[in-house]
Order: sequence, then C-alpha cells, then structure tokens
Amino acid sequence: MAFEKVALPYAKDALAPNIGADTMEVHYEKHHTGYTSNLNKALEGTEWANKSIEEILSNLDALPADKQTAVRNNGGGFYNHNLFWVTMSPNGGGAPSGELADAINSAFGSFDEFKSQFAAKAGGQFGSGWGWLVVDGGALKIVSTPNQDNPISQGMTPILGVDVWEHAYYLNYQNRRPDYISAWWNVVNWDKVAELYAAAK
Ligand code: MN
Repeated sequence: MAFEKVALPYAKDALAPNIGADTMEVHYEKHHTGYTSNLNKALEGTEWANKSIEEILSNLDALPADKQTAVRNNGGGFYNHNLFWVTMSPNGGGAPSGELADAINSAFGSFDEFKSQFAAKAGGQFGSGWGWLVVDGGALKIVSTPNQDNPISQGMTPILGVDVWEHAYYLNYQNRRPDYISAWWNVVNWDKVAELYAAAK
C-alpha cells in the first residue's frame, strides 16, 4: 500500500498571518506531494513498501544500497511534513501544560529557556533542515538535522519539529528565519505535542 500524506487538519489560510496560505499551498501540495510520490517510487516492488515509515527510517542501512539515498531524503520528507502539519493549529500557541510542561521545565529550566534554546538550534541549522524536540531514552532533548534527515534514524523520537528549509518561510519572511520561528510558536499545537510525548516517553 502506497504511503499517503496526512490530510491537512485545517484550511490552508488558517495559520495566517504566521504562515500564509501561499506558503501552505506550495508546501503541502507541491513539496510534500513530491517527497511522498518519490518515496513510493523508490520503494515500489521492494519488501519495504509495506513497512511503517518509522521502521524504514530506523533501518536505512538495511535498505538496498541503490535505494538508501532516495528513501533517506524522500522518506524523511514524507514523515517530517506529516508531523509538521499535525503539530500546528490555528488554535495553537501559548504554553504546554501537565506532564509535558513539567518535563520541559525540568530539562531546560523554564518554558522560555526551552524556546530560546530551540530557536537557537533551529535558527542555527546551516542551510536546509529541521529543528526538533525529541525524546531520547526518556529524556527531552533539542536537536537539529540537515536536509530531510529525521531523529528516528538516530534512535530518537521526535515530538515537535520546525521546518527551516527556505521553502517553509521565504514567501512570508524572505531571509528572516528567526522571525519565522518566532511566528511559528503562535501556531504550535501543544495538545498534540503532549500526546506524542505521552506515547514516546
Ligand atoms: Mn518543507
């Protein structure tokens, strides 16, 4: 069965002005569709076509050698954007609560300190990539990855990610990646992140 990208859980203009409808249109309909169809093409006819994307990204080295690069890039792009869409919401922003809030305070000192460290990591990723909040051996950590690499391939479980490829912000923010990250906090769906944290820890 072919991989299918998640349905967008809100309208394409719903995250504006933080992320505009024009960016959402191209990002969801063109970029994410491209990663998904290229992943399906790469896996077609292999035993990996019916495995979960998590299993595939955890075992890239076990794939046929001539498929590894395509699956790393496009499987990552498929998975990363699925997570990105569902961890944003027009009703997002604010701060987490409950167990996730406690874990963030305990790992980083405070929510503001977490935001500052996360923005620095994501903002400092050279070139294209992602900033992540991950669960690693039960502990929360902030990491970044280049291109479409995903922390799953390093044994970690991502629960929140921000896309810092220029295609994610250039129409709205041009070269101002820090402004994009600042605005992105306004749409983070902390209820969803808390759900992913509970499942991963
Ligand atoms: Mn993207």
